[in-house]
Amino acid sequence: MRAWILRRQSRIEERPLELVDNYPTPEPGPGQVRIRIKATGICRTDLHIAEGDLPLHKSPLVPGHQIAGVVDEVGEGVTRFRPGDRAGLTWIYGACGHCKMCVTGRENHCPSIVRTGWDVDGGYAEYVVADEGFAIPLDGVPLDFEDLAPMMCPGMTGYLAFELAEVGPGDRLGLLGFGPTAYYVMKVARSMGIDVYVSTRSRAHREIAQSLGAKWVGNLLEERSPEPLDAIISFPAVGESTERALMSVAPGGVLVLSQIFSTPMTISDYNGNLWGRTIRTVQNVRRSSIYKMVEAAKRIDMSIPKDIFSFDELQEAAVRSRRGELQGLTAVVRVQ
Ligand SMILES: [Zn+2]
Ligand SMILES: [Zn+2]
Repeated sequence: MRAWILRRQSRIEERPLELVDNYPTPEPGPGQVRIRIKATGICRTDLHIAEGDLPLHKSPLVPGHQIAGVVDEVGEGVTRFRPGDRAGLTWIYGACGHCKMCVTGRENHCPSIVRTGWDVDGGYAEYVVADEGFAIPLDGVPLDFEDLAPMMCPGMTGYLAFELAEVGPGDRLGLLGFGPTAYYVMKVARSMGIDVYVSTRSRAHREIAQSLGAKWVGNLLEERSPEPLDAIISFPAVGESTERALMSVAPGGVLVLSQIFSTPMTISDYNGNLWGRTIRTVQNVRRSSIYKMVEAAKRIDMSIPKDIFSFDELQEAAVRSRRGELQGLTAVVRVQ
């Protein structure tokens, strides 16, 4: 099959991905399905892996974990899928199922978790295999593949971040940074009557936030929110933004750090900015949140402003994502 592979990490500007025509097409084993990939999304995490911010766990690696397609073959014993079903695959490729974290519904913290496109080959290819328990049924979600793919990471991790924020109707939720994950969180929050305060410098992103009904749009790195917030979900991989975010979280409130990587962070004013607040981080993603997001996408229009690229253009899509040159909020590659 055709696949984009990563052998050695380097800056994405140096084009570390390589397009090959003869990568082995995976065959589904017992309990596995094979997905013929229709669309695959480019995630900031993929760039962290390509560039060496995160270690390389195998080489060559097919990156990518925003996968939407159609099941084309099923292994022995598979009962949840049949060929022709629409299916997705997310960052969580597998978990042990019996550790303390797994049996208490927190499989995202499983020490044996396997991540798609990091620990095993992922979605920058024509096919991927997955255990049927971790492939996500997508029949009944009224979106095309180009909108399903980005939902598979920003949508799913966004839903987990939203749950960790513990906000409900009438509460005030801040979003520090406005990329695709914030976009999906905002869609869910607005549907529940939560007031959303958006912090972004980008004029285009401010307009999108306003069109979705933001209560306030500004820049929390330079100012405080007009009212103290019940929670903030923060996205920048920059440690300095942490205390800036905390300055707008009310005592009793929650700061959720959504990034997978961060530069060092310090809290200089414990009593003023941290005391009474809770900080949580989003580590990986779990199926309970994924399935809630799938259900939400049956009720709420989860289409997203995006730039669509051909499979041959995948590396250019990654470069343009890295440079912040996209027109929309995310880059999606049409595979076949
Ligand atoms: Zn486990
Ligand atoms: Zn991702």
